[in-house]
Amino acid sequence: MFSLLSLPYSPDALEPVISRETIAIHHGKHLQTYVDNLNRLIADTEFANMPLDDIVRNSQGAVFNNAGQILNHNLYFSQFAPIKANNAPQGAVLAAIEAAFGSFEALKADFEQKGATLFGSGWVWLSADKDGSLLITQEPNAQNPITKGLRPLLTMDVWEHAYYLDYQNRRLPHLQALWQIINWEEIERRYIQ
Ligand code: MN
Repeated sequence: MFSLLSLPYSPDALEPVISRETIAIHHGKHLQTYVDNLNRLIADTEFANMPLDDIVRNSQGAVFNNAGQILNHNLYFSQFAPIKANNAPQGAVLAAIEAAFGSFEALKADFEQKGATLFGSGWVWLSADKDGSLLITQEPNAQNPITKGLRPLLTMDVWEHAYYLDYQNRRLPHLQALWQIINWEEIERRYIQ
């Protein structure tokens, strides 16, 4: 049985970038529904006692869609922290960003462009490959980079439910605002593990 991720911050902690109302619906309703659906779908199946990552790697259809969305949202919601002035990566993650993209500014521009141009619902990801090199991918619907052998580090949800209450159709300004609340210490933990 899977359970709903506990947020590592209060529901209003990310305002004004993400409102309390969006957190309440996105985390409390959308993610809860994926958890309830997956638990119902995998009861008494080969997936019943499987770790979430392995379900995502080995399933299709409704099981994959719900497991993928749980994994994606768990990584998404646990990567944020309250707004910090001059929020930016440091250390090993910054070095890897500079090696792959030239600068943090260049990473942001590339990431935002890929998020703004992803057609329909999906996710944009910053991941590490087996050598620790970073790359950005666009993934449709419930896809996660682990199915390509990559290690996901940071993600932005471009499903409309992630931003419509706060930004309506303005997806790009929403993505641009999210950099203020990225918890780079958490991203570094994911990178150096
Ligand atoms: Mn979502």
